[in-house]
Amino acid sequence: MSDVEDKINKDDDGYEKICYMCRRPESKCGQIINVPGGFDICTDCLQKTFDTMQTGNPFGDLSGMSGIPGMPNISFVNMDGMPTDIPQRQKLKKKSKEEKKDKKPFDIKQIPAPHKLKAQLDEYIIGQEHAKKVVSVAVYNHYKRLGNKDSLLNNVDIEKSNLLMIGPTGSGKTYLVKTLAKLLDVPLAITDATSLTEAGYIGDDIESVVTKLLAAADNDVERAERGIIFIDEIDKIAKKKNVHSRDVSGESVQQGLLKLLEGSDVEVPVGANSKNAMVPLATVNTSNILFICGGAFPDLEITIKERLNKQSSMGFNSDLKDKYDKDKNILEKVTVEDLRTYGMIPEFLGRMPIIYTLQELNEEMLVRVLKEPRNAILKQYEQLLAMDEVKLEFSDGALEAIAKKALEKDTGARALRAIIEEFMLDIMYEIPKDDNIGKVTITKEYIEKTGGPVIEMRGCPAIEAK
Ligand code: ADP
Repeated sequence: MSDVEDKINKDDDGYEKICYMCRRPESKCGQIINVPGGFDICTDCLQKTFDTMQTGNPFGDLSGMSGIPGMPNISFVNMDGMPTDIPQRQKLKKKSKEEKKDKKPFDIKQIPAPHKLKAQLDEYIIGQEHAKKVVSVAVYNHYKRLGNKDSLLNNVDIEKSNLLMIGPTGSGKTYLVKTLAKLLDVPLAITDATSLTEAGYIGDDIESVVTKLLAAADNDVERAERGIIFIDEIDKIAKKKNVHSRDVSGESVQQGLLKLLEGSDVEVPVGANSKNAMVPLATVNTSNILFICGGAFPDLEITIKERLNKQSSMGFNSDLKDKYDKDKNILEKVTVEDLRTYGMIPEFLGRMPIIYTLQELNEEMLVRVLKEPRNAILKQYEQLLAMDEVKLEFSDGALEAIAKKALEKDTGARALRAIIEEFMLDIMYEIPKDDNIGKVTITKEYIEKTGGPVIEMRGCPAIEAK
């Protein structure tokens, strides 16, 4: 291997070089030359610099001054202190020539079949059977669509199916998407719709969601283009009623999202929130990115009830007016029409063909959330105490009492961790003090603050702690 090749290999860190002047990566601007001083500059910019020097200067003949004739005072520009390095987070992943050449078509066999995907989701997510089924099928079809694009049999274009998920706080919306991305091993970006505003206003540009995804994909554009973007709190960008000023964080954000949802090329800054002269740009195509929007849509039940009541109070088959008042699963009956009444614009809804709901977790489900998922909170605490060689147990009554307390907070499964943490604080503080403790049982009385946990010493009968 020649010295030059050897040097190139040593310098190759798997990321693209970026032109110091125009901030374009080498895949876009072609050859990049390392000029004295340690700066990487593309041939275009280098040429432009020479052109400027030859054209002379706009201030007349200043050749009498020190410096290069035609370029006054150029010798005064001291580049020594200028940083030559581009921060790591702003570098784009480089594709080697071989990788580009044998770019394999997307292999659908990599994606588990819907029933297998759902079985994997079951290990983490309690209940929500319908949602898990819908998501498994939708994701499988989405990636099939990618395979179809690359396939030779392709004679029908399969349309993209983004998902809209409706469910109360703490019912597992975010958790479902996170688990899904983990199981599929695809990059995931999670954004809050409330932080997005129309470009030019205070807040994040809509395209910042793609920047986040690119960062999650370790700046690998190809990987990002197959990722998932989850936009939470989507109900907060519903069209505001009776607003006379410009609605920069509602309807116009929905409008702005259309382009992304549909699939288009967006130029996004790499490793930064806003485009500016100092940040390299990358072009990401969003047509294969799966968009999942989620929201609690508070009071949507009222809209649904009104519609159903209107329908059922007409004609001979009319029902009682309060028929739907006690219907617990009223949210499942949501239609596109209801969401339009709520304030989502038709063009947005048109790009979200799959709409599904998650149920509010009841007491029994909350108890299961505590102990059954793979990384259940109880299992985590058991593990922590096992490191001190102490066995931790919760009585059934204790679990029910915790679930009851969580229900009162009305934030679904989110409340569970906070409640357990409060009770476990003392336990985690006291237990390591005494090496003789072999087992701790958390009782209903301890949770209800009418008693203490049961402590068992190694080789001694159990005692109730005060
Ligand atoms: P939201 O619906 O508000 O997005 P999250 O998905 O953030 O709620 O849920 C908060 C936490 O509650 C999760 O991190 C997860 O640990 C737990 N959780 C919520 N729903 C479930 C569920 N159905 N099964 C298991 N854990 C759940």
